[in-house]
Amino acid sequence: MSQGRHEVSIANSSEDEGDDDSQILGRRIWRIFPYVRPYRRRAVVGISTNMLARVFDLVPFIFIGFAVDFYSGHSKSGGRLGDLRAFLDENLLIHLSDDQAVSYGILIFLGFAGLAIFQGISDYCWQTLGYKVQHDLRLDATQSLIRMEASYYDLRQTGVLMSVLSSDVNQLEDVISDSSTSIIRIFTTFITAFVILMMMSWKLTAVLFGPLVLIFPMVYLFSTRVQRKYRKQRESTGGINAVLENVISGIAVVQAYNAQEWEISRVSSESEEYRDEAIGASRDRNRFIPGLYGVAGVVYGLLVSVGGWLMKEGDISTGAFVTFLLIMTRLSMPLFIFGMLVNQLQRGEAAARRVFAMVDLEPSIVDKEDATALEGPIDNIEFRDVHFTYPGTETPVLNGISFTVGQGGFLGVMGHTGAGKSTILKLILRYYEPDSGEVLVNGHNIQNLTLDSVREQMGFVNQDPFLFYGSIRDNVIYSREANEEEVESALRLSGAEEFVTSMEDGVDTLVGDRGVMLSGGQRARISLARAMLKAPSLLILDEASSALDAETERQIQSNLLGTGGSRTTIAVAHRLSTIRNADEILSMVDGAVVERGTHDTLVNNNGVYSSQWAIQTGALGEE
Ligand code: ADP
Repeated sequence: MSQGRHEVSIANSSEDEGDDDSQILGRRIWRIFPYVRPYRRRAVVGISTNMLARVFDLVPFIFIGFAVDFYSGHSKSGGRLGDLRAFLDENLLIHLSDDQAVSYGILIFLGFAGLAIFQGISDYCWQTLGYKVQHDLRLDATQSLIRMEASYYDLRQTGVLMSVLSSDVNQLEDVISDSSTSIIRIFTTFITAFVILMMMSWKLTAVLFGPLVLIFPMVYLFSTRVQRKYRKQRESTGGINAVLENVISGIAVVQAYNAQEWEISRVSSESEEYRDEAIGASRDRNRFIPGLYGVAGVVYGLLVSVGGWLMKEGDISTGAFVTFLLIMTRLSMPLFIFGMLVNQLQRGEAAARRVFAMVDLEPSIVDKEDATALEGPIDNIEFRDVHFTYPGTETPVLNGISFTVGQGGFLGVMGHTGAGKSTILKLILRYYEPDSGEVLVNGHNIQNLTLDSVREQMGFVNQDPFLFYGSIRDNVIYSREANEEEVESALRLSGAEEFVTSMEDGVDTLVGDRGVMLSGGQRARISLARAMLKAPSLLILDEASSALDAETERQIQSNLLGTGGSRTTIAVAHRLSTIRNADEILSMVDGAVVERGTHDTLVNNNGVYSSQWAIQTGALGEE
């Protein structure tokens, strides 16, 4: 079988061992862009309002400076800002209020109002953009995942897949709603501050921006260091999810074997790993952040002295000095944001690697380009010398299986556990494809037919029937939309009517997660009703009645026979009475058919079948 691209994808977390640990923006994260494109108007509004908000965040500081100059009697403010003040004084302020002090107050208020409005619009745009992209991504990843063939799932843990669809997709939402705004925030704040300060005094600008050249690389170095710890932390999340998923779905076994302590210790060791990585990251972060404050303190102290000195020398006005001090305080925040941003982007890159690996999944069992749809019902199934080995394993499971079953026919398959019986059914359902040989449906190789058209004709009942959380009706109509009578008739056929009507809520009874609120035999019957509602032309039963008592089974069989008509049935059964009436019975040993024929022929054959029959009828006799 050809292996799809998924072989190099999210098999396990070790694939996170990555190449672009040290880059702020890795390769994969850019793939978010096509997801943003449909919402580009929102993004453009988000970017522009975010930039405006940052400008409005700083502009009041200029007015505060002007106000200070006004109160302290400075006729001119520093540098080219003085021109701005003169312009405002002459053109605007006189219109705002008779009192210039009040006018400055109004101007400052307007600055804040601008900040409030633009910040609100920007946050709304970015957050909603994040949620929209998150939804689209999750859907895309799920669509790819859900089409994958059985062998993909065989090799993977549910918990790990779940954490890609939850934590990783959420991480990418963070990148959009948080990181993008941080990038814009940092750039706009610095550029606006730079422009304002340059207008006031180039000396002030040099004093403030000089040390930043040193601080940014420091923040960057630190962030890449913590990143490794964050990555391990994320991997541990997948591990915890995988263990928890196992414990919860196997809770009955856990409790029956008093394995609670052992399971807790497993969760504990995964959780400890997470905790220790998180503590490590926190230790680094909290060593660094006070360091950053320390450096900021030194720089600020210096700046205040230099600024004060410039003011004393008459280079700048008192108001300009105040503006400078206020802007300075606004620049420390972006520094801390920058540290977080680097981390967030790197975590985003790791998440993008996993999410897009899932989005890119290509099933290897797909319709060929020239595949044709199966016309009409299935009237013939044939295996021609089919050999099969499960992907990722060495031992062949089917060694040259051949049989034919025609319209209305009944093929029974028996044999010891592990003989390969269910595998035959899985090949008919095309969950897997043979290594060699052919599976033919109505004379066509199944691989040349479209998957949907073939499966459309099949009804399948598993030995461990899976019911979805919901009501009995929900589970029956899973195979197709149907009205009340059709549901009832399917339940009657499958021998479920009696117990369903005796339940207080009838078909509306909730079955619990995976159907845990029903007995094994009840689940089997609901699952059979689901298959029968579809009126399949091929009914595939894998130990479908093993959970039923012999009498119920006999009754259901006679129901099914009564409505059988042209329906073809292939049934795997351990209890031979189930397949006693088959037109042909295959008796399997180690992936090969060792005997075949009708019940009567096989009973007289003195082989595996007849000895099994003897044991089972003997056992029945004792009953
Ligand atoms: P039977 O239905 O006769 O009990 P199966 O067809 O289920 O046996 O399994 C045949 C063999 O294939 C067994 O040895 C089993 O371990 C192996 N097998 C079944 N399913 C898988 C799988 N998904 N991946 C690998 N090996 C499998």
